[in-house]
Amino acid sequence: MKIGILGAGQLGRMLGLAGYPLDLDFVFLDPATEACAAPLGEHIYAPYDDEHALAEFCRQIDVATYEFENVPARTAEFVAARVPLLPAPVALTVGQDRLSEKTLFDSLKIPVPRYMPVATREALDVAVRVIGLPAVLKTRRLGYDGKGQAVLRTAQDLDAAWARLGQQPLILEAFVPFERELSCLAVRGKRGGLAFYPVVENVHRDGILRVATPRADDPLQAEAEDYARRVVEHLGYVGVLAFEFFVAGGHLLANEIAPRVHNSGHWTIEGAECSQFENHLRAITGLPLGSTAMRGPSAMVNYIGRAPADAAVAAIAGVHIHHYGKTPKPQRKVGHATVTANTESELSGRLSRLQALVLAAEQ
Ligand code: AMP
Repeated sequence: MKIGILGAGQLGRMLGLAGYPLDLDFVFLDPATEACAAPLGEHIYAPYDDEHALAEFCRQIDVATYEFENVPARTAEFVAARVPLLPAPVALTVGQDRLSEKTLFDSLKIPVPRYMPVATREALDVAVRVIGLPAVLKTRRLGYDGKGQAVLRTAQDLDAAWARLGQQPLILEAFVPFERELSCLAVRGKRGGLAFYPVVENVHRDGILRVATPRADDPLQAEAEDYARRVVEHLGYVGVLAFEFFVAGGHLLANEIAPRVHNSGHWTIEGAECSQFENHLRAITGLPLGSTAMRGPSAMVNYIGRAPADAAVAAIAGVHIHHYGKTPKPQRKVGHATVTANTESELSGRLSRLQALVLAAEQ
């Protein structure tokens, strides 16, 4: 069976790596010169609006999916008119706009931080009066890894934030003094079946995910599953969906969804019975889903900017190294490592050693 993937970044690469043992072949479409999934299949090097290239992509494949949530809606519709595209394009449309996401959460009675859309400088003043400070001003579209955001702490911050972000539609959110950040990965099969991985505790710095640790028996597991189930069922979703939350006052507030496999699920490659990548492929090809159970304690650390030396990392027991084949660049995710262990205390020792190496290498 041939799978078409829109996007050929590291998520596509890891989908390809998971798909080979299942005898799946891959065609990637991505305009980037550095498409790190390209060695895992055929790479059609073309912009997302190149209909000739998209038609060729569709001719070659049995089912399409995406690993990049900013695939233009028209591209998704073009593909979906020719081959099954899973998850369906509606998930992309919702996930691409923070306002549509928040509106969806509201309609499904999922709690969110206070928010208001902001289209003009005057509207920003009004929103700040309603929501109060501190607050976070975000672009509605195309933000990722903390890009396209400004934290407003005092009234003096408004002009600079507006000058930087004001050329596009924005949303103002209350700043959440969160206790933790959690994500919940759900997977729903083409022939039914819905499963959830254990929730993951995520630590970000500069808006970029640094460390992700799955939590067995987290008190918020049931709440996270309930909210994720509402979204997945509402969208008729097939595949892996990631749902990011803030924990405030011991409860969840929805931040955003990503209609794809997710960085906070990379630990599942070694830490779960069936990885998020294999489960996404199982879901879209109609296979029964694999178990989402943890094999034991694990944690994932992102390589940001530059990878630490393999010789030092590989000396840590229980470590698994993943390079993405990307050129080092500040703030870029160039790889990750997952550590597994038999006990929480063993994990914490291994994780500290790994984090020290990763931090020292970063640029
Ligand atoms: P996002 O792109 O919305 O996931 O934001 C990236 C990171 O910025 C989040 O994971 C949080 O660490 C932080 N952040 C975003 N929105 C808020 C908020 N409303 N309150 C507090 N921190 C936030």
